[in-house]
Amino acid sequence: MKYLVTGGAGFIGSAVIRKLIAETDHEVCNVDLLTYAGNLSTLAQVEDSPRYRFEKADIRDKAAMAGIIADFRPDVIMHLAAETHVDRSIDGPADFISTNLVGTYAMLEAALDYWRGLDADGRAAFRFQHISTDEVYGSLGADGAFTEDSVYAPNSPYAASKAGSDHLVRAWHKTYGLPVITTNCSNNYGPYQFPEKLIPLMIINALHGEKLPVYGDGAQVRDWLHVADHADALVLISERAAPGAVYNVGGDNERTNLETVQSICSVLDELRPRAEGAYADLVSFVDDRPGHDRRYAIDASRLKRDLGWQPGHTGDEGLRQTVAWYLENEDWWQEIRSTKYSGDRLGRGAPAKHGETHG
Ligand code: NAD
Repeated sequence: MKYLVTGGAGFIGSAVIRKLIAETDHEVCNVDLLTYAGNLSTLAQVEDSPRYRFEKADIRDKAAMAGIIADFRPDVIMHLAAETHVDRSIDGPADFISTNLVGTYAMLEAALDYWRGLDADGRAAFRFQHISTDEVYGSLGADGAFTEDSVYAPNSPYAASKAGSDHLVRAWHKTYGLPVITTNCSNNYGPYQFPEKLIPLMIINALHGEKLPVYGDGAQVRDWLHVADHADALVLISERAAPGAVYNVGGDNERTNLETVQSICSVLDELRPRAEGAYADLVSFVDDRPGHDRRYAIDASRLKRDLGWQPGHTGDEGLRQTVAWYLENEDWWQEIRSTKYSGDRLGRGAPAKHGETHG
């Protein structure tokens, strides 16, 4: 089969592409604008494969998307390209509205034109797979978990832009018959995650002996899923899900943010002990993120029941493996840290005053 993957130079898209090239005989066309979050070094192990090609292009450019799709002729469009960092969406929502909403609209229009031109077998087999987040459902209380029937209640500009994109995808199925699939996944972690996100930020700050900024009281609960398990789920879903299907994907791995940071510190104490004392001494509580959701948890029983998917990584083992990966792959993140993002606090809802220090 042929997969057109948008956002394939990002964290999750690159994990999907590495899997498709290493473990299947499918062909892949990666369409990515290479924003600050995109990184082709993440794909070094597949770049020489004759089954892989890269197109630098903007998903908001419908004509460019139509041209690439017409040339590649995909069986599956797996749509991951997005602006993804909640803190950046608080500081500057415009890019999120533009890429996540207008970009998804342009992808849907280009996909619909292409799908209408396929023969009956091609139309029946084609899937537009939209990758979304559990953040569209808002925040949970102490109990329960999000199901595919949970009400949409997004709280951040990021979550609202993803919620809107999910609605567009649904409408293109209901109105025009485009065979879409939507997946809503919990927080991912693992190798090659951009160091603005919680887990790599904490590992890298700790290695530099810098403060580990925990937002608010650190009691916000997240349901962490290893990115390789997400990639497995996405490929399985692309092969087996019926048009119009929605699947929640999650790791049954709830932890508070403070617990996550403390676990990272314990692994680092063991793997790279620090002469000055325990890494946990670096934890520093800072102002909370505005509108910070308190708890996310995913009920993935539909995916497990329908398609037999199970996450392969346990929380402790996956986190330990991830910390070890960042220790062993310093070249990958040092380059980003020195050229793209140096670890400053983002997303406080107001621009920093001149000369003010962060976090
Ligand atoms: P990421 O930020 O690591 O990567 C996003 C990629 O999209 C980058 O390579 C970037 O260059 C590309 N991109 C951005 N704007 C573009 C544009 N206009 N045209 C073409 N390419 C563009 O993101 P990620 O963490 O890999 O997330 C991928 C998808 O999964 C997103 O849709 C996100 O909402 C969703 N998701 C992420 C998580 C998570 O925990 N990371 C959880 C659930 C769902």
